[in-house]
Amino acid sequence: MHACGHDGHAAMLLGVAKSLVESGVTSQLKGNIKLIFQPAEEELSGAKKMVEAGVLENPEVDMILAAHMLPDLPEGSIGICRGFSHAASDRVCLTVRGKGAHAAKPHQGVDPVVAGAFFVTSVQSIVSRSIDPISSAVVTFGRFQAGSAFNIIPETATLEGTVRTLDPKVRKKIRRRLEEQADGLDTMFGVKTKFEFQDGIPACFNHQAASDLLFEAAGKAVGSNSVSTVPPVLGGEDFALFTEKVPGAIFRVGCGNQEKGLVHPLHSPYFDIDEKSLIEGMNVFLKAVKLYLE
Ligand SMILES: [Zn+2]
Ligand SMILES: [Zn+2]
Repeated sequence: MHACGHDGHAAMLLGVAKSLVESGVTSQLKGNIKLIFQPAEEELSGAKKMVEAGVLENPEVDMILAAHMLPDLPEGSIGICRGFSHAASDRVCLTVRGKGAHAAKPHQGVDPVVAGAFFVTSVQSIVSRSIDPISSAVVTFGRFQAGSAFNIIPETATLEGTVRTLDPKVRKKIRRRLEEQADGLDTMFGVKTKFEFQDGIPACFNHQAASDLLFEAAGKAVGSNSVSTVPPVLGGEDFALFTEKVPGAIFRVGCGNQEKGLVHPLHSPYFDIDEKSLIEGMNVFLKAVKLYLE
């Protein structure tokens, strides 16, 4: 279970469709409305396929809006982030090839575990020493696999990690520093390394006009006192691939409720939403449509 509220997002958009049709408002609007039910946000691959399939063309899209649940905000409130809202998310893989040996005779082998462990520790200095402290970035290695016995130096170690950045220049610099440090292992430890940086998705950018529209629409939907600016997060969001092509913005729908025990974060197995938030998210879309197309 991914537990991110995606069924709620689909329900909200179905509500938008129902309301648009039943109210007859579409006949008074100057323009077309496309409702995009994007799959596979959880693996950050659905937006790419939809863009490639032409969802933004014929008719061309002038502005795109999206919603995502956020249990950190109470039900009845909406959060909007101007500019970059979610991080670019890339994957890195490092294979370290050494030479197996008896644990007690390390001088007869080349230890890939020590080289890999050094790499994980050493790259932590990239964010702290090579990146402007005002910028945000994360380098995390979540997988480190090597060996099959406690007393044998293995042949290889495989490491996999993720790089999260908001600024494309920082993204480039971290990539270069990781490559340089991986290269350095060969000289320092006598291992042979293979480093791969796999481009994931870019940072999600909320355009000015679309953010302004959302602030106004959300104010009308839930009252301006319940609309707040939320800070960016270093989680990924493949809505980024839409706003890379056309102006747009994503808003967060507050779905938490302390009294009802709905306090668990996204991706928690206990995550649940206050279903009143579905109406509020739906109303933000409806108000935005009216404001933009009337
Ligand atoms: Zn998720
Ligand atoms: Zn999600």
